[in-house]
Amino acid sequence: MHKWRSFSWVVLALVMVVLAAGCAGKEPAELDVREQRVLLAKVVSVVDGDTVHVVLENGAREKVRFIGVNAPEATKEQEPFGLQAAAYTKQRLEGQKIWLETDVEKRDRYGRLLAYVWLDPPREGNDREARENMFNAELLLKGYAQVMTVPPNVKYADFFVACQREARETDQGLWGLADGRKAEDYYVASNRSKKFHRPDCRWGREIAPQNLRKFATVDEALDAGYEPCRECRP
Ligand SMILES: [Zn+2]
Repeated sequence: MHKWRSFSWVVLALVMVVLAAGCAGKEPAELDVREQRVLLAKVVSVVDGDTVHVVLENGAREKVRFIGVNAPEATKEQEPFGLQAAAYTKQRLEGQKIWLETDVEKRDRYGRLLAYVWLDPPREGNDREARENMFNAELLLKGYAQVMTVPPNVKYADFFVACQREARETDQGLWGLADGRKAEDYYVASNRSKKFHRPDCRWGREIAPQNLRKFATVDEALDAGYEPCRECRP
C-alpha cells in the first residue's frame, strides 16, 4: 500500500514537470510559425517601405520585415526616395488584410518576422502569381525598393532580380533619380554579404580574397543580385 502511494506521487510529480516545461517554452506574444507557411494578418501601421506592424489571426502582434527587398531609409536617417517608399507602402497596405509567406528562416536577429507579403492568398506560390499579387515584387517593379538577398531566404531571389531589372530599364521610382555619380573602372563585391562597393571603400578593402568578386559596371553587379553598399554608394 505504501509503495503504491509513493508511485502515484512520482507520477503526479512527473506530470507537473512536463506541464511546467510546456508552459515555460511558450512566449504568449510570439507566434510559433514553424507549423504554418502562410499566415493571415492585418496591417496595423507602416514603419517604412519594407517594414510593417501587423496583428495575426490569434491576436498576436508582430513586426514584419519583407524578404528579399530593401526600401530606402525613411526613419532614423533619410535616403533619397525613402519617404516616397514609406508613403506608398502605407497607402497600399495600412488597414489591409495580407497573407504572410515565410521562408527557411522565420525571424531576423531583431526578432522581426520575415515574410513575403501576399495581397491575396497564394495558391501556387510561383513567379507568375508573385508578379500579380505579391507586394515585395510590386515594390521592386515600381522602383520603391532594391533587391537584398539574404540566404537562406532565397525562394524568389532570381525573380526579384528580374523585377528590379525591369524597373531599372524603365527608370521606375528610385531608378529615375538623376544621380550624377562617378563611374569606377571596376567594383568589388563579397560573395558572402552580396554587397558591392567602389574599389576604395573601406568595406570593399576588407573582403577576404576567397569571397572577393569583381564587376565591370554597376549594372552587372545589380543583375547578379548584388546590393549597392550604403556607405560608398556605387
Ligand atoms: Zn562600400
